[in-house]
Amino acid sequence: MTGTVRTTCPYCGVGCGVTVQNTGTKPSLTGDPLHPANHGRLCSKGAALGETLDLTGRLVAPRLGGLEVGWDEALNHVAERFRTTIREHGPDSVAFYVSGQLLTEDYYVANKLMKGYIGSANIDTNSRLCMSSAVAAHKRAFGEDLVPVQYQDLECAELIVLVGSNTAWCHPVLYQRIVKAKERHPALKIVVIDPRRTPTCEIADLHLPVRAGTDVWLFNGLLSHLHQQGCVDQRFVTEHTAGLEQALSTALDSSGEIETVAQQCGIQSWTVEEFYHLFARTERVVTAFSQGVNQSSCGTDKANSIINCHLLTGRIGRAGMGPFSITGQPNAMGGREVGGLSNVLAAHMDLENAHHRQIVQQFWQSPRIAAREGLKAVDLFEAIHAGRVKAVWIAATNPVISLPDANRVREALRRCELVVLSDCVANTDSTSFAHVLLPAAAWGEKDGTVTNSERCISRQRAFLPLPGLAKPDWWIFCEVARRMGFEAGFNFASAVEIFREHARLSATENVGSRAFDIGALSELTREDYDALLPRQWPARSTGEQDPIIDSRLFEDGRFFHADGRARFIATTPRPPVHPPDDLYPFILNTGRNRDQWHTMTRTGKAARLNTHRPEPYVDMHEKDALLSGLRAGQLLRVRTQWGSLVGRLRVSGEMPRGMLFAPIHWSDEFSSDARVGSLVNPVVDPISGEPEFKHTPAQVEPFVVDWYAFALSRRPLSVRHVTWWSCTQGEQFTRYELAGRGRQQHLSRWVKQLLNAPEEPTDWLEYADAGSGVYRAAHLIDDRLDACIFISPRPDLPARAWLSALFAKNGLDEADRTSLLAGQPLGAITDAGPIVCSCFGVGRQTICHAVRKFRLTTAQQIGHRLRAGTNCGSCLPELKGILEEESSLAVER
Ligand code: SF4
Repeated sequence: MTGTVRTTCPYCGVGCGVTVQNTGTKPSLTGDPLHPANHGRLCSKGAALGETLDLTGRLVAPRLGGLEVGWDEALNHVAERFRTTIREHGPDSVAFYVSGQLLTEDYYVANKLMKGYIGSANIDTNSRLCMSSAVAAHKRAFGEDLVPVQYQDLECAELIVLVGSNTAWCHPVLYQRIVKAKERHPALKIVVIDPRRTPTCEIADLHLPVRAGTDVWLFNGLLSHLHQQGCVDQRFVTEHTAGLEQALSTALDSSGEIETVAQQCGIQSWTVEEFYHLFARTERVVTAFSQGVNQSSCGTDKANSIINCHLLTGRIGRAGMGPFSITGQPNAMGGREVGGLSNVLAAHMDLENAHHRQIVQQFWQSPRIAAREGLKAVDLFEAIHAGRVKAVWIAATNPVISLPDANRVREALRRCELVVLSDCVANTDSTSFAHVLLPAAAWGEKDGTVTNSERCISRQRAFLPLPGLAKPDWWIFCEVARRMGFEAGFNFASAVEIFREHARLSATENVGSRAFDIGALSELTREDYDALLPRQWPARSTGEQDPIIDSRLFEDGRFFHADGRARFIATTPRPPVHPPDDLYPFILNTGRNRDQWHTMTRTGKAARLNTHRPEPYVDMHEKDALLSGLRAGQLLRVRTQWGSLVGRLRVSGEMPRGMLFAPIHWSDEFSSDARVGSLVNPVVDPISGEPEFKHTPAQVEPFVVDWYAFALSRRPLSVRHVTWWSCTQGEQFTRYELAGRGRQQHLSRWVKQLLNAPEEPTDWLEYADAGSGVYRAAHLIDDRLDACIFISPRPDLPARAWLSALFAKNGLDEADRTSLLAGQPLGAITDAGPIVCSCFGVGRQTICHAVRKFRLTTAQQIGHRLRAGTNCGSCLPELKGILEEESSLAVER
């Protein structure tokens, strides 16, 4: 496969276009300048995609009971076991748990098999964990799951309110578009509403560090304020909405006074006033929200309280305004379109609507149709735990890491009679529980469509051959369906055939009653599909539309409830189900790192992405750390009612008092004790079923060890016996962070074993200071550094960044050897400090040094000197943070 291929990034819901130049050797990847989502930009993760394409760790053959088998044997086994289980225990005794990583075509056939042929709605997706509250809120307000905003609205807005969204890290290209819009229109105001002062706040004119979970108080207060100030679009409200009276009276009850709102939200009154005034006097407002809103036991109400304010002011369905749910995963939206959630039917139709069930069943010509909601993710794994669900097929996701109360999920899978797992990765924390492993195609090998946060359908195109016996997910689902006796419904020979059927279903008995209609795409030929440009839906077969982005929803004020009106929803603020108490006084908040994706199975392969946050950590306010007897750099254990983890303490100015933050990415593959899902409270929003990932009561304690260490090695080390460890991939080595208890009696021998060195190495450097407990050693082979270790009783070990330069050398000179023994760079090598710009490997120390030396005052000047921030721009918020810190230090000096 050679030539130029235009495809779509597999990470976040921004859905950036990627251009691949495939010369037959190593493909080179750049941002697609013609894609409407990114216009050529990529963030750090997207820019490093080319470094993640190797086949290390891939699952390339089916496995049954741990043994490799052929496809026929594996598929027959799965079909037979599912058929037997259904025959003996009924259709609800089986389930699929799928993923926002699947392509729309994969999702479509999985949903069709479960809801139309097995006859259960027990198919749910990991998208339940990130945006199902937004789905539920959209359905309540608009009558259908519809996102009314498109990215270009951010560029013509006068006010952007970012709620519970660290856009700078989680949707970086969208953030870059906002930054550029602000540069072009300095009058554009940005308000960030987030308990943490995240990097996104670098562009904020106003930051409201609300107490976690209090958004409904804030937006109810805004609704009351807008009403009191006469900012009501009376014509719009009268002609196009219903339910204002009750919503308003509920809002006034809870949040009629600004002081009450400020008190409930834990912020100062003037900030609330300032926000309300800004919102009231600005016509073009986009309120973008993300996981901080959705991942909550009242996430649906939070989203509706935001939507209420837009309905009241009529700020919806026009350029530069509207409530905007930014989705987390690359194809969360595609999953919603085909009915990948257990409480919806295909093509935005409703399970509880008999007419919709009849449309779908007739269209599919299926023997049955699910008649009631299936189990949502958390309940689904609970049902597996209880033995009610006896066979589960997990596709492209790792629930043992990502679900709340993840230890219970692990136990559920251990108990389950049949676990089938289709994935492209051979070893994840979940694969060890699989009775059957099915090798799926990965990004770059699979072919189909995805839909991004602005309803834009883009092609993911293959540019690599399928490795080993790997197959596309849609093929695997269809083959199992056929073997279960459902040949007629699954006779698809290619992804385009599935897409055509999906498009036809969307248009069936749809004369404008459902906004999701892509009938215009239902006759695509193979060639049309291959050439398909990104296009937004609706794309009705009757419409004359621009093929790119033109489909604004609600322009005519028509919504999709039976009466055509939108609904105000009365939202009563609720305190968290489990508030902090004396035993668990902190709130654990979880989220993403800038340079990692999910459980690092792909991003973890790119060395440069591992330099930004290279180990599990816990962020905490300085005073909380002090009062808990903890120091920065020390290991700490965070414990909740459900589980615990160990991470490195980062004292962070981003954190409010009483809150901890831990990243979601670490699995047992990469660390001994850092699966944050095992700590998370499994309570869910009663409407959406989305779990409370941002608010688990927690306690902290020092994780007492006798020594800290790090080791870098060209070859993998066996570290699982060490008390605490984590590992990441470097350029030419693996980096291990280690900590242990007790003293090794024969330290030198133990270290040699750990570093895979012989007992009598020919080239061994060693420094030991018995008094201080400091120990350093390095093993050289043919003058090249093979492995090194630095041990100390204190956590403040030497910097790691400069050592990578030694691994890049073909031979070490005397100065290098002295550096190793001294534990610090000497001579030409300098320590760059922790990496800030992963594109060009520019470290914090280098940046600080340049800022001081050359009196730099802008991120552009840093870019000019060091190139940092000039490629993907993901580090720009951190560069601005460094400039601020250096400027205050200069004042002090
Ligand atoms: Fe991929 Fe980054 Fe674009 Fe998200 S913002 S789609 S991760 S390149």
